[in-house]
Amino acid sequence: MTEHEAKALLREAGVPVPRGVVLRVPDVAPPADLAEPLVLKAFGPGLVHKSDVGAVRLGLTRADVPAAVAEMRAALEARGVAADGFLVEEQAAPGVELIVGLVRDPGFGPVLLAGLGGVWTEALRDTALRLCPISETGARRMLESLRGAPLLHGHRGGPAVDVDALVKLLMTVGGPGGLWERLDLGEFEMNPVIATGSGVVAVDARYLPGDTPGPAPARRTDFGALFEPKAVAVVGASTSRPNFGNMFLEFYRAAGMPVVAVHPEADEVGGVPAVPTLAEADVDYALVAVPAERCAEVVRQAAGVPFTQVMSGGFAESGRPELERRLLAAAREAGTRLLGPNCMGVYCPRGRQTFVGGGVGAAGTVALVSQSGGLAGEVIKVGERRGLTFSRVATVGNAADVTPAELLGWLSEDAETRVVGLYLEDPRDGRALFEALSATSLPVVLLVGGRSGQGRRAAASHTGGMVSDARVWQALADQTGATLVTGQDDLIGVLGFFQAHGRRPTVAGTGVLVIGPSGGASVLAADAFDRAGLRLDPLPGEALDALRGLGLGAGSSLANPLEVPVGPRGRADLVERAIAAIVGHWPYPDVVAHVNVQSFFTYGTSAEPLLEYARRLAAAQDGLPGTRITLVTRNGECAPPGVEDEVRAIVSTSGVPVYRSMEAAAVAVAAGQRYHGGIDGAA
Ligand code: ADP
Ligand code: MG
Repeated sequence: MTEHEAKALLREAGVPVPRGVVLRVPDVAPPADLAEPLVLKAFGPGLVHKSDVGAVRLGLTRADVPAAVAEMRAALEARGVAADGFLVEEQAAPGVELIVGLVRDPGFGPVLLAGLGGVWTEALRDTALRLCPISETGARRMLESLRGAPLLHGHRGGPAVDVDALVKLLMTVGGPGGLWERLDLGEFEMNPVIATGSGVVAVDARYLPGDTPGPAPARRTDFGALFEPKAVAVVGASTSRPNFGNMFLEFYRAAGMPVVAVHPEADEVGGVPAVPTLAEADVDYALVAVPAERCAEVVRQAAGVPFTQVMSGGFAESGRPELERRLLAAAREAGTRLLGPNCMGVYCPRGRQTFVGGGVGAAGTVALVSQSGGLAGEVIKVGERRGLTFSRVATVGNAADVTPAELLGWLSEDAETRVVGLYLEDPRDGRALFEALSATSLPVVLLVGGRSGQGRRAAASHTGGMVSDARVWQALADQTGATLVTGQDDLIGVLGFFQAHGRRPTVAGTGVLVIGPSGGASVLAADAFDRAGLRLDPLPGEALDALRGLGLGAGSSLANPLEVPVGPRGRADLVERAIAAIVGHWPYPDVVAHVNVQSFFTYGTSAEPLLEYARRLAAAQDGLPGTRITLVTRNGECAPPGVEDEVRAIVSTSGVPVYRSMEAAAVAVAAGQRYHGGIDGAA
């Protein structure tokens, strides 16, 4: 499609473009109704970046045009480029030049990019991304997030541009019912869009059609029996050489789950009754742990088994996509939903489903969907150690059939689940994930592996070159309000925050009150919370007298972070009373109390002062149901063995989560505030 045709398409959609004509007879002056100055451009298949080859001339009069055409044609021929034709258009008034583009990302679908710079786009790299459709708030946030945003608002005496017109343009392209939905999209780019005080005009446009993938098949599966099966089968346990299959038989026996082994010859495997094929097993779930080559034939027998999980690796992840396609075909043929391949299993204490040793933990409200079985196992084990209790955990590996997005959709309606963690490595399912994340009202914590992978896309346009997975994941989180974390500890930490505080009614205030011992730790606390985007609003004036009445503020200032003596010689009730005095006047939604555990054991080994502190903090939380109190136990390794667990047990009864560092707490508190709309959330 030529520039002129792309512009016609834009004009029809309501995007202003310069008036112009394609010169039918190039040596004749253009029609009189085009207002000077004029711009001459050549077009043709070899002309992608026109300026680079001298195929754009600005500032022409009508009379200049025939000669300019002849010169341009000669110059192009000298470079071996043939022009198919010439476009003459009105020259727009100067303004701020922007790039606005659309690309269809292979995983995430249509993505909108907007940035500053026009021809300098690559040099400035000042762009913002959103998945389509964008909202109007989203469009405004895109523009505001640009480093160069002040240029739009009349920087250093320059005129302010018509931001509303720019927002309207972004909506026309990327909003609901926008161009992104109507174009058979490969890439579409306007570079530049010139913005002035009186509007916007797209002076260059390029459209590369792509092949639109068909819509994914709509599925609606009730995953209830996956997590709480009546009985399970294990395929692949050995009578002679114990393997993964045998390990799972053991896990199920320990968890009290009715289990049957599938074995071609044996009547029993390790004391578990066996049947020769899956077809004879009356179960809701089958776990398959046989070599990759044999998986399809096993799964083909799974008619009547609603869920089949293939643990084995050696499929697409090892360069054997054909084997994976055969496996998926076998599952479809049998009518079973496939989990995996290349994963571990399912964990659900309520349903006695497990893939980790040591029995199942307490049933709770945290769900996890993980593309990695190993990581899920760690999050379960370490998470339970840190107080998480799980509703449902599913590992999906390569996600050949059941995807994280589909599970998220089901979990969003699950009565047992109040927060969902996702560990993903693969943006393949990105579009469906975006839709599921947009639709869910649950808090979601997203950990993405492999985000640093670079340069996956060929850069046929500026837009394409600037859309990387890392940036799209960030956009996905920004738009849907999901919390994107950078490591396993934060995944567990943020899940723990929502588990503890998820059901509290939210108070309308903003900011965080930080309260703890004085010194550098308090200063660093302020920095950590600031980095996480949280506000440490100053203390309410009305509370100062009450605080002085508690003996605070003598010799130190009363500020946020509030410094209070905390330690073996501190008054145990001080923190509780100070919090109540402050929150009574200013409804901080979050209070972070920190202690230096080491200081409690400077003079002795009695844990009592620390435990008493914990009890009083728990009491403070009980008295303030609308405030989220969080405890940071710095230097926890200085406590005698077991004491940290005791502290955690005391405060968690009242719903106070515990972190070992200020940074970890800041990430969790910020996630909570984002979810509740306290800081920039979804749009
Ligand atoms: P290229 O293929 O090199 O991107 P463009 O059509 O974008 O070619 O033109 C190059 C530059 O010329 C633009 O960045 C813009 O500054 C200017 N320009 C092009 N067309 C117009 C126009 N109609 N009005 C004003 N400036 C224009
Ligand atoms: Mg251009």
